[in-house]
Amino acid sequence: MITPPTTAALPAPLRRTKIIITLGPATESEEMLEKLILGGADIIRLNMAHAKHDWTRTVIRRIRAVSARIGREVAIMMDIKGPEIRTGDLEVPIELKAGEIFDFTVKPGADRNQSEEIRSVDVNYQDLVNDIAIGDTVLVDNGLIRLEVLTKDHAHIRCRVLIPGELKSKRHINLPGVTVNLPSFTEKDRADSNVGLEEGIDFLALSFVRSAADISLLRDYLEQKKSLVRIIAKIEDQSAITNLNEIIAATDSIMVARGDLGIECPFEELPVIQRRAVQSCIAQGKPVIIATHMLESMIIQPVPTRAEITDVANAVYEQADCVMLSGETTIGKYPLDCVQMLDKISRRIEREEAPALRETAVFTSERMKVLHSAVVLANELPRSKLLTFTRHGFMAHGLAALRPLHSPILAFTPHLPLLRQLRLLRAVEPYLLPLSSEPDVTIENAIITLRRLGHVAPGDKIIVVTDIVSQDRLVDAIQLRTIR
Ligand code: PEP
Repeated sequence: MITPPTTAALPAPLRRTKIIITLGPATESEEMLEKLILGGADIIRLNMAHAKHDWTRTVIRRIRAVSARIGREVAIMMDIKGPEIRTGDLEVPIELKAGEIFDFTVKPGADRNQSEEIRSVDVNYQDLVNDIAIGDTVLVDNGLIRLEVLTKDHAHIRCRVLIPGELKSKRHINLPGVTVNLPSFTEKDRADSNVGLEEGIDFLALSFVRSAADISLLRDYLEQKKSLVRIIAKIEDQSAITNLNEIIAATDSIMVARGDLGIECPFEELPVIQRRAVQSCIAQGKPVIIATHMLESMIIQPVPTRAEITDVANAVYEQADCVMLSGETTIGKYPLDCVQMLDKISRRIEREEAPALRETAVFTSERMKVLHSAVVLANELPRSKLLTFTRHGFMAHGLAALRPLHSPILAFTPHLPLLRQLRLLRAVEPYLLPLSSEPDVTIENAIITLRRLGHVAPGDKIIVVTDIVSQDRLVDAIQLRTIR
């Protein structure tokens, strides 16, 4: 028996673009987590470049407890730092001067046979001398300091300072265009991932992915651990751009990590790379995240710049699956306002006309053609909603990849871990529901849930995409129902 809705008003449309927040001192409390999850955060990211294992375990358990208490299960993404080159410790910062000759030392203590006047800092990667060439650029501290390589020997890389600045301990080094031979999944990454898997994370984001082989290594590790955690490949240097299509094919999803990308590539290339990455992901049916500096000024101010509003809007126009906050929610003064701001901008832009139905390059199976037909139907019916049932996520992924023009994808699954992973997908709203052996009962139960939540209203057209039993066999079917 279907219970009548309490109100005849149309439900507010569900937001299609998903919001990822990075957890830090500004947001790790139970109280703040509750506000952010209720405010619309879909996925919580833990940046392992800065996280200790005790803290990681504590906050994962806290997120799960808060989600269960308020009845909104969010996903957890562990972002492991991958191959990273850093400067060593300095007793006091070095104020580098323009034109100064400066050494990076890969073998601490090695004799330089040079005048004592040349200052130096250690680097944590010995083979850097083999990877780097004379004339290459070395960028330190998010590109704030720039040097040019003049000479090198077995232990030192001698540079000239082009853009000066204050060099502090343990600063990140970027080497634009240099192929670095560090392992892609380091010992630290393995130790961090072990903690994540023990605590039940949903996504692993691998930093500085350079080729599909990096993804295979991580997949092998996950298979050994019998883990269903899904992989996010972070695109952040020129090798990743060169190998973009093979990386997209190998991974489960992509993050356009604009922080490092903007240092590793000429900055004017960044919008071009972003657009191409989103289009390639949509073509291959893989989810894509746009990350970093989306609302950077809101770290210290309560309102974003006009340019930031337009940047977020651009990601939504491009039909990315997710937008992501970093410093805004780790150390920012206005983390909740940032989530509300992303929510507001996304909802507004989603009301604008979207591009016509995507022809995904890889979905050529008959099953995919059934999903395609369902989306064609949904696009032609105002107030239509796609309803699907999914045990492994295939149906929801397929529908999301086809980017329905206006219909949300209401995805019911009996599996909580899958529900959390579905939070990554554009336009997918996941619900938990035990699936009955009788498809009609499952559909009725789903509609009851949707009515109770106010997610459907009388007159809505529901396009059900499911498998039904016909003559003892399961067949894929599309049904059109009207909510009464
Ligand atoms: C980035 O570089 O944009 C990014 C998201 O990675 P991280 O925060 O790990 O530097």
